[in-house]
Amino acid sequence: MISDMTVEELMESVKKGKMKSDEIVDYFKKRSEELDKKLSAYISKCEIKENEGGLNGIPFAVKDNMQLEGTKTTCASKILENYGSTYTATAVKRLLNEGAVALAKTNMDEFAMGSSTEFSAFFPTKNPWDLGRVPGGSSGGSAAAVAAGMVPFALGSDTGGSIRQPASFCGIVGYKPSYGLVSRYGLAAFASSMDQIGPLAKSVRDAALITEIMAGKDPKDATTVDKKIDLLKGVENSIEGMRMAIPKEFLKDLSPDVKMVFQEAIEKFEKMGTKIEEVSIPSLKYAVSVYYIIAPAEASSNLSRYDGIRYGLRIEEDTIDGIYNQTRNKGFGREVKRRIMLGTFTLSATYYDAYFDKAQKVRTLIKREMDEVLSSHDAILGPTTPNVAFKFGELSSPLDYYLQDIYTIPANLAGLPAMSLPMGFVNNMPIGLQIMTKRFEDAKMMRIARSYEKARGKFPMPKLNGGDER
Ligand code: GLN
Repeated sequence: MISDMTVEELMESVKKGKMKSDEIVDYFKKRSEELDKKLSAYISKCEIKENEGGLNGIPFAVKDNMQLEGTKTTCASKILENYGSTYTATAVKRLLNEGAVALAKTNMDEFAMGSSTEFSAFFPTKNPWDLGRVPGGSSGGSAAAVAAGMVPFALGSDTGGSIRQPASFCGIVGYKPSYGLVSRYGLAAFASSMDQIGPLAKSVRDAALITEIMAGKDPKDATTVDKKIDLLKGVENSIEGMRMAIPKEFLKDLSPDVKMVFQEAIEKFEKMGTKIEEVSIPSLKYAVSVYYIIAPAEASSNLSRYDGIRYGLRIEEDTIDGIYNQTRNKGFGREVKRRIMLGTFTLSATYYDAYFDKAQKVRTLIKREMDEVLSSHDAILGPTTPNVAFKFGELSSPLDYYLQDIYTIPANLAGLPAMSLPMGFVNNMPIGLQIMTKRFEDAKMMRIARSYEKARGKFPMPKLNGGDER
């Protein structure tokens, strides 16, 4: 079935003349049309093709916090509901240059703050495995679209887990590249010291192929590095003899079901000839707390630009303060306001030392402890999420949501590459395995992920009707 095919398989069939690029685009457009009625993965649809290249006819979807000329970029927020993109993000541009065809902008939690896509100001997206459950977030629209075969791959952004957590919930591959590998130019800033663009895809090789195209120095983003990282070269090589670390802290509160699936994954690694060692990274217990000081602090500063004057929504009032006030009051949702208030508080003169400054120090500690483990081990393994996708309305307090990212946040704090790939099912819902390596050892991470993928075998896709016979 075409909807099951990876990017590589689609490219191959075009090359062999079995399919035409136009047919592929039409197929995915039609399937998207039908399945989006069930899943609500897209905020807007488009058909943007700019160039001929190796990705000819390969459709993709873009999270709606990335600029793409010819589309709106809403960040799933009322404040940007009618904001038209004025340029195209570098990462997206590079894919268009290779011939890929952008078909949609995907739903997300407002300004990428959330873990379920329930915090979109427009509508929630559904999980293709169970329409009563969330797809995860904040890149939930991208994850649902890929899992449902509406597009062969999609782009997401990951500040604390927003690519990997929805990938885990939807049974697909999600990859957050090392900080600095992919340009953030054109990505609406949330927490700039942690934001990264990355792919959601059906296979490890696809994730590598897509990222290779997007990655590399961009004069428009000073944090990008001038490093050539060849993600596909050597990806099929054996990982025999490698040493894998499993932090005790990742196992502590795991439910028996998830533990069992993770145990099976670990046994596969043992069979592949790797050494498994339990380690301790004591500072990991502070990761969520540190993240929820640093991310809101950066967000409160980044979001100050939405003031009713320069972008998007404006509520007319008699005074300038009135405009700011009412525009931000009506334009931002509850979670975004919560973060802005939190961030403004921890950055205030009185509390800066007690909160923000201290959090920065603990961030350094976490980074150091993780780097140390990775100086004697090739990778850190663990489950991506503590649980499978939850039902709509199941979580209520902000803290319940914040704890969804307990395993994914450390990679963002430390700038490490990290990937989630499907490792099995709990209660008929997929759950992911997370692999982290040293910063810029993305190629090694790919190789480990690919080895596991081969040992695991093909992972099923959810059964959905639309576009074709299944
Ligand atoms: N769920 C986390 C948050 O709400 C991470 C979001 C993200 O990675 N963009 O901040």
